[in-house]
Amino acid sequence: MIKVRNLTKSYVRNKALDDVSFTLEDGDILGFLGPNGAGKSTTMNIITGYLSSDEGSVEIDGTDIMEEPERAKKKIGYLPEVPPLYNDMTVQKYLEFMFRLKKVRLPMKEHIFKICEMVKITDVQDRIIKHLSKGYRQRVGLAQALLGDPPVLILDEPTVGLDPQQIIEIRKLIRELGKEHTIILSSHVLSEVQAVCDKIIIINHGRIAARGLTAEMTRTGDSTQRLNLVIEGKNTAVKALLSRIDGVSDVMDKGECEKGCYEYTVDCKKDVRRLIFRAIARSDFSILSMSPVGVSLEDTYLDIISGKTEEED
Ligand code: ADP
Ligand code: MG
Repeated sequence: MIKVRNLTKSYVRNKALDDVSFTLEDGDILGFLGPNGAGKSTTMNIITGYLSSDEGSVEIDGTDIMEEPERAKKKIGYLPEVPPLYNDMTVQKYLEFMFRLKKVRLPMKEHIFKICEMVKITDVQDRIIKHLSKGYRQRVGLAQALLGDPPVLILDEPTVGLDPQQIIEIRKLIRELGKEHTIILSSHVLSEVQAVCDKIIIINHGRIAARGLTAEMTRTGDSTQRLNLVIEGKNTAVKALLSRIDGVSDVMDKGECEKGCYEYTVDCKKDVRRLIFRAIARSDFSILSMSPVGVSLEDTYLDIISGKTEEED
């Protein structure tokens, strides 16, 4: 449905995107997760044809956004970071205006009515936009994106600035829309992406740092990639011994927890529990406890944005 290939984009002073590629199937809800300045809006502006990339291409349902922008744009509903609302118009007049601007070929009144019902703004259709709450204005922005029944929705930080109740409502609405649309949603809030999306791409400094299914990335508890150990013995020597074990990528000394015993967190590339057990058994040290720690998506995300995790090649 959406093919994004090798997008690269530089602004005058910095590289905002560096070789970003991903594909979406029909019906996917993709969360584009990253801290401020990561390149989320730049990517979305390129996908929707509002910005050109220096390199790379975007295909929407087989149509290249640069080669056939009109045709490709018809397939996309876009809610930019700042929705393009005309504050002095009523909701109804604004949607009629956008309907004409987008040259939608559907019966206007019925179509707008249907969308207003869908995003629950029927009761404010005659109100002037600037008098609406932020939550309602965001819904009007969504309504605008839905004009013309596009199969793809691109939503840039759709819940920013909303209060908790409004956030819950907009998320529910997006999940509802996800049944009939392919959606890319950006956010800097991990819990939001987890709540709404079935796939996640983490972007940082313009590069994709991690990607996967939400369910898989969130799985905790059965992981052997991180172990917590309590070992009796001189900490510097124990740390050196652990670090030499094949498959161990990092050893963190978390300090003394009982007299002469230290706690360690060990990151490993494979299951090293037996190797650790044997290595310690051969030494003068003793293992007092060893337990796997689930690496949560939150840890992954924090590691990435604090620069601890290497970015994908
Ligand atoms: P995000 O949406 O993830 O917060 P952006 O795509 O807006 O990130 O920005 C990515 C990087 O590009 C940032 O470093 C930002 O400062 C820079 N940037 C964005 N827009 C412009 C612009 N119009 N001119 C120059 N730099 C920009
Ligand atoms: Mg942004």
